Amino acid sequence: ERSMTKIVVVTSGKGGVGKTTTALHLAAYCQTLAPTLLVDGDLNRSALDWASRGNLPFKVVDEKAAVKFAREYEHIVVDTPARPAPEELQTIALGCDLLVLPTSPDTLAMGAMLQMIDALRALNANYKILLTLIPPHPSRVGEEAKQSLERAGLPVFKSGIRRLAVFQRAALEGVPVNQVKGDAYAGIAWRCYSEVGREMMR
Ligand code: ADP
Repeated sequence: ERSMTKIVVVTSGKGGVGKTTTALHLAAYCQTLAPTLLVDGDLNRSALDWASRGNLPFKVVDEKAAVKFAREYEHIVVDTPARPAPEELQTIALGCDLLVLPTSPDTLAMGAMLQMIDALRALNANYKILLTLIPPHPSRVGEEAKQSLERAGLPVFKSGIRRLAVFQRAALEGVPVNQVKGDAYAGIAWRCYSEVGREMMR
């Protein structure tokens, strides 16, 4: 059976919350299911840089080339700039099946994310919050952030993304974390995103 989630857009209210890392790994997950295109719509071209450093198991193009390639792929993941302008947010929200909003569990990032959600609610957009850069035990900030979002009735992925240095290594090597060799945390890091991918496709 074909999945309903064809176009996934990743955006954030603030930079540095793992937006590009999320777009890249959700594309890597989707690629395990069917041919996937990652569209780099971020002006920093972070995803294209990542691809140029190494080897990604899926195709990455800029947004100008997206139209040309879109038809050939089953899944399309779009990385967008952080802090999209209201008009931009509207275009994004209406054009996709799911908007993924990564945020670290700190006050500033959460505040920026909640501001975007105010705008998204007015648009009736289908969005889901992803907690990223979750600090290790004994910190409970990740779990606490998730609980407060759930209590507020906001849609949040059950699985979150742990803060693991292997993600930085993956970016340097130009691969997704599941292709980083000789790092004991690569498997754990990949599992974080593959669980989110599974939730996303349900
Ligand atoms: P954004 O697109 O929101 O600016 P990036 O995905 O570029 O964020 O990530 C910002 C920095 O944090 C990068 O150096 C990246 O390697 C690192 N990073 C992203 N996610 C994680 C994570 N889960 N654990 C550790 N470092 C991460």
